Amino acid sequence: MQLLYRSIRWVNSVYPVAVFFTYITIALATFAVCFLMPVIGVLSLVFSLLSLVPIVFAWKVLQAGERWLVRNSIRQHRCPSCGEDLPELDGVDCFSCGAAFDSGGERVVT
Ligand SMILES: [Zn+2]
Repeated sequence: MQLLYRSIRWVNSVYPVAVFFTYITIALATFAVCFLMPVIGVLSLVFSLLSLVPIVFAWKVLQAGERWLVRNSIRQHRCPSCGEDLPELDGVDCFSCGAAFDSGGERVVT
């Protein structure tokens, strides 16, 4: 459970940067060949624009999955991040690893 949470959290944190560099790579590759094969430029533009919607959608799904894991874990009084028992009185602050979450499952930076 903690491994899954930490993996999905890691994916969520690198996702925007990874997408950004993917687009940069596509742009550079397109620029390199667009004078030889202009159709590649058109295809690349269409692909980039069309892929934005599923890429953003996939990120929203991943973030929702992360929040769902957190809510699940808090309901079982376990810290989503380190797996330690959470104190009953304050179920969203972990004393062991210092992670804090809001009621929606979003990680709070303290
Ligand atoms: Zn913890």
